[in-house]
Amino acid sequence: MARIVGAIATSHTPTIGFAVDGQKQQDPAWKPIFEAYQPITAWLAAQQPDVLFIVYNDHVTSFFFDHYSAFCLGVGEGYAVADEGGGARRLPPIKAHGPLARHIGRQLMADEFDMSFFQEKPLDHGCFSPLSVLLPNDGQSWSLPIVPLQVGVLQFPVPSAKRCFSLGQSLRTAIESYPEDLKVVLVATGGLSHQIQGERCGFNNPPWDARLMELYEHDPVALTRMTHADHARLGGMESTEFVMWLIVRGALSPAVKCVHRSYYLPSMTAIATAVYENQAEPMTEEAAEVARAKAGAQLEGIETLEGTYPFDLERSVGHYRLNKFLHDLVIPAHRAAFKADPEKLFDTWHLSEQERDMIRRRDWRALMQYGAIFFVLEKLAAVVGVSNLHVYAHMRGQSLEEFQKTRNAQVLYSVGGSEAHDKVERSAGR
Ligand code: FE
Repeated sequence: MARIVGAIATSHTPTIGFAVDGQKQQDPAWKPIFEAYQPITAWLAAQQPDVLFIVYNDHVTSFFFDHYSAFCLGVGEGYAVADEGGGARRLPPIKAHGPLARHIGRQLMADEFDMSFFQEKPLDHGCFSPLSVLLPNDGQSWSLPIVPLQVGVLQFPVPSAKRCFSLGQSLRTAIESYPEDLKVVLVATGGLSHQIQGERCGFNNPPWDARLMELYEHDPVALTRMTHADHARLGGMESTEFVMWLIVRGALSPAVKCVHRSYYLPSMTAIATAVYENQAEPMTEEAAEVARAKAGAQLEGIETLEGTYPFDLERSVGHYRLNKFLHDLVIPAHRAAFKADPEKLFDTWHLSEQERDMIRRRDWRALMQYGAIFFVLEKLAAVVGVSNLHVYAHMRGQSLEEFQKTRNAQVLYSVGGSEAHDKVERSAGR
């Protein structure tokens, strides 16, 4: 089974990435940053983990306020480096451990954390700034896969310290109930004292940072009683992102062994680093089985329902491209391109021959069996002027007339919309 061997806590200030890119290892002002990470990379090399579970926040780069969520777990197979306005850093995309991520997602949901899930979103400095100094990459790939958890700490209301700590406690079970033998290292990111907004910008409080690190190690439960305003007052407004560290602390044993700690305040953000070894006993196989059964309980037995295809995380990730292709028919330009030259658009999207064939033949049943969710099929139906009833009949392997006989009223309809409505009316001969 998977095992949490320990955790790294680190600031994620863009300063770190900037120093790495500028090769400032020997520059006296920047040197302490690199020195702080040497013991951590040595510890990582000794531990030989298989995966890093990294808790970070996006800085309004890939996650905007059109849809902002509290706990957003990356469940995809890999992530690119985000462009934050200056062009993306010259770093390769990083692979993810998708199966572990999706297992964790199911477990946390079963523990009644209402998670959101993302894939294909580039990760910003919150993740790649520390990663670029923690992990080697050869320009093509990184030495380890990750599972990212994005925490929405920028738009209040933000999850409380207590909620983050509780999530961490569930995270421990979620990770350690994964059946494969994996060594997992957790990474908590976020700066200690800093404020980068308003007239108070530039606020730091090194004595508080030292106290915070002590409490984090020895009495994290005391920190769960702090409000966001407490953090802002003592450590500056942006230090409220410290709640992310509590997720990681909650996943570790109550007593931890601290094997490294550093603190450096070069400019605006206190760059703290630490390494903690987990002292908890490994989870028993029986406890892991109980946890896995809990996560499977809601869909248990669903496989016995013939002709039923629950759209789970595996389907979502496995068939993301096809679902996105069909979903994006809601975008007028994509819709127009599809109508004008579907073959060209298939090429642009690198759809497989099987996917193209199913779309060309409007094989609704095959598309559903393959992994499309119904709600993108009804979009395609609206575009090609087919009613939902045609789609339903086809999925059941019946003619429209046969299927209509099973309904109380023989009506045809589609999703609403000025274009779809007229087409369906015409197809009904009206
Ligand atoms: Fe941040």
